[in-house]
Amino acid sequence: MARKVLVLAEARDNSLRNVSFETISAGKTVAEGGEVVAVLLGDGVSSLATELFHYGADKVVTVEDEKLKTYTPDGYAQALLAVIDAESPEGLVIGHTALGKDLAPKIAGKLNSGLISDATDVEATGGNLVFTRPIYSGKAFEKKIITDGLIFATIRPNNIAPLAKDESRTGEVSSLSVDIKDLRTIVKEVVRKASEGVDLSEAKVVIAGGRGVKSEDGFEPLKELANVLGGAIGASRGACDAEYCDYSLQIGQTGKVVTPDLYIACGISGAIQHLAGMSNSKVIVAINKDPEANIFKVADYGIVGDLFEVVPLLTEEFKKLKV
Ligand code: FAD
Repeated sequence: MARKVLVLAEARDNSLRNVSFETISAGKTVAEGGEVVAVLLGDGVSSLATELFHYGADKVVTVEDEKLKTYTPDGYAQALLAVIDAESPEGLVIGHTALGKDLAPKIAGKLNSGLISDATDVEATGGNLVFTRPIYSGKAFEKKIITDGLIFATIRPNNIAPLAKDESRTGEVSSLSVDIKDLRTIVKEVVRKASEGVDLSEAKVVIAGGRGVKSEDGFEPLKELANVLGGAIGASRGACDAEYCDYSLQIGQTGKVVTPDLYIACGISGAIQHLAGMSNSKVIVAINKDPEANIFKVADYGIVGDLFEVVPLLTEEFKKLKV
């Protein structure tokens, strides 16, 4: 059954986040041959529409307002609800990002609709749209369908591949004027933490350090490896609690959830709370000097050894491959 599906595109620093293209791809599956309409909210974002077409959007609707320059739950909800009202979609897909996790339940509440959150896959099968989502901290997966009303889901970043880029694709851009009012939150200033290198939640390669790195300086060899592989640095809560690194790097149940192509865990024991944030990575390499460490149970490749010997060796070998 062909349906119209809205997908929310996310932009940061005037460039689209990869999850925007993943929502279009998921939206195509949900649309089952129908139309995928990408929604861009912000201030001065309409120039980004072209790229959304390249990745499969059939139409782009923009809502431009100074009050949408930074995310606020009230502002974005008002704008998105206005687009939903104007477009009457039968499906809605949002990234399961910090923004999406905040916004989607609010929208579902306002629309009195169901919501499948944190889906890692969607397929049209047997006349149903079946969403897969992790449960019990990623130890199992459940399959879910929405039988009535709006088909609404948030999708976990890095799980549903974007469609191949086609620069010949174009489409219609329409702008909607929305009177954004009664904002209960006003963002006066955004203070960015100076972050080095690649964004952890979207990284294809993550090099994560645990308490085994032993100090802040112990992260240095990991950073060198991350540089060579174009990856991001992550950490266990053990490393964060020990003040070897900032909590913004924490991966796990109470940290970030990552699903890179390659996850290298260095000196991490593999507690269930850590696995909840990384066990869906495509290839997991664990380096630990304890052969009984739990991390080896989820690892595709295990290296029993001292990370301070193994990591520099890996860096040297990867450097040779790059030459
Ligand atoms: P440890 O368990 O101390 O492991 C260190 C490992 O390093 C050991 O396996 C050791 O063999 C190895 N090692 C030491 N030296 C070397 C060396 N030179 N070379 C190689 N290996 C070496 N944890 C998270 O990570 N993320 C979360 O989101 C999270 N949320 C939590 C929520 C709750 C409610 C609770 C109760 C806990 C949570 N935790 C979380 C904590 C979790 O239970 C573990 O305590 C934590 O993950 C342990 O961190 P670690 O593996 O770095 O440290």
